Amino acid sequence: MRRAIRSSAELLRRLDIPAVAAEYPGAAPTAATAKLVAEAERDFPTFVPLEFFARMRPGDPADPLLRQVLAVNDETLQVPGFTADPVGDDAARLTTGLLQKYSGRVLAIPTGVCGVHCRYCFRREFDYSDNLDASLEASLGSESSGLEISGPPSWQPMIEHLWRSPDVDEVILSGGDPLTLSDPKLDRLIRAIEAVPHVRRLRIHSRMPIVIPQRVTETLVARLQSSRLATWVVVHCNHPQEIDQAVSDAIARLIDAGIPVLNQAVLLAGVNDNADVLEMLCREWVNRRVQPYYLHQLDRISGAAHFEVDVRRGRELVEQLRTRLPGYAVPTYVSEIAGAASKSPN
Ligand code: SF4
Repeated sequence: MRRAIRSSAELLRRLDIPAVAAEYPGAAPTAATAKLVAEAERDFPTFVPLEFFARMRPGDPADPLLRQVLAVNDETLQVPGFTADPVGDDAARLTTGLLQKYSGRVLAIPTGVCGVHCRYCFRREFDYSDNLDASLEASLGSESSGLEISGPPSWQPMIEHLWRSPDVDEVILSGGDPLTLSDPKLDRLIRAIEAVPHVRRLRIHSRMPIVIPQRVTETLVARLQSSRLATWVVVHCNHPQEIDQAVSDAIARLIDAGIPVLNQAVLLAGVNDNADVLEMLCREWVNRRVQPYYLHQLDRISGAAHFEVDVRRGRELVEQLRTRLPGYAVPTYVSEIAGAASKSPN
């Protein structure tokens, strides 16, 4: 992660793409473009690990992986209906680092660090400041020095709240990305959750097995496998080009250890709003024993309007998938509506 590319200009330079060519169709190139991109990056910095970058096609401004991570001038547009908290995270906050939206399960946010910055992220404006592990250095910790790492005090209210919530039987680690935590920190957190007797399941939502698959080490797999909690891993992958041999191997390590893996994707204009692409994505996953779980309608976060696909178009795409794939390979197409008691099927 320390070697990640941290500017869109650098990303384009390494891919040999002129900046003007990278703009979205319809966004007329102007002298102010670079300034707008800089503004977008100031609000949400570019962060692209080399392992993910290596799967992009040089010279192709429409590359679907590049599109997901490239800061563009359109992000600075104010579009009605696009807000800082489209899914109601603030209202769902129980205590530091803990949200509850749905019955029986809570969402723990132990870190604000991600392995990649997706430009459409619905948490791109989330206030992680009350989570101690909001920086890369804090997330990785100081294990290289051999020091024992204790869980940050900011996790304490989260764990205490779990003890007081007997109706909660599942903890979802989300973020940020929980697999950006160092192994000792993750272990400390999982142990604290395992100690709560009424919690039965641990779900880890992570893009790390996709963007830096080397994170899925034998040590990590062994730790998850040995948990007393039924542990599920939900990865996030939007395009079949994201799945290379290293990703396949990482996923196989999890599944061979008995850890079920699901994929969720976001429907994104210019990335995967195409039946052939979605079909291939679903096929690639079921061929690897991963169930396509959700296809998410884009959450209407400020700065991401250029990624939105009309829901009617989304329904047509899913209808096409139904005619091409077995039922278990077709993801559920959902929207997240702030305050709703569950995800809403489209
Ligand atoms: S990995 Fe997930 S949480 Fe992180 S930026 Fe991407 S979509 Fe957002």
